[in-house]
Amino acid sequence: MNLKMKYRIIIDRLEDLYPNPPIPLNSVNSFTFLVAVVLSAQCTDKKVNEVTSTLFKIASNSAQMKSLGVVRIYNYINQLGLARQKAKYLYELSTILEDKYDGNVPASFKDLEALPGVGHKTASVVLSKVFGIPTFPVDTHIHRLAQRWELTNGISVKQTETDLKRIFPKNLWNKLHLQFIYYGREHCSARGCDGTKCIICKEIFPNREDPVEYKRP
Ligand code: SF4
Repeated sequence: MNLKMKYRIIIDRLEDLYPNPPIPLNSVNSFTFLVAVVLSAQCTDKKVNEVTSTLFKIASNSAQMKSLGVVRIYNYINQLGLARQKAKYLYELSTILEDKYDGNVPASFKDLEALPGVGHKTASVVLSKVFGIPTFPVDTHIHRLAQRWELTNGISVKQTETDLKRIFPKNLWNKLHLQFIYYGREHCSARGCDGTKCIICKEIFPNREDPVEYKRP
């Protein structure tokens, strides 16, 4: 099967399964969305939503978050992994947003990635969901699926992102990013599959026999 046929099947099946994929992190504005994404590093979205349901009632903009201070922010988020570091990030990034951007979330990779706790993936998610800018943030689910569907040879997340952007049309990136994540969560666990079981693998690799090795990023 050539690459074009393969990506058509992937797009169609994901569209059948997830025609309107919701954004899994709760937020009330661009600032709280940025905060939720920063908090989601190495945590489940469910846990982040539990924590932010209280935090965002107290601090839904950078001025309020800054005035809480590191210790009080920590007290709100201490159920999350890396809570001490994340509390520091939230305080520092809120201070920068206040001082430099009038409390607004900047809309460029350069400015977002300069904020504490904001790496390339977080910046991509914010640009995509807040500003509608086409990006393809690659998390562990997407990286795994891209390998198992043989859309990339790369062992790095960066290479996977480059390959996915080359293969799929730009106008689909923001939606496909969510569809991949939902599919990965519901169908493709990190272990326990020989690469022949789910509906998409069965269709794009009808004769696959050898198990697929997953290379961790
Ligand atoms: S067949 Fe297995 S490895 Fe392939 S995408 Fe489905 S769940 Fe993942």
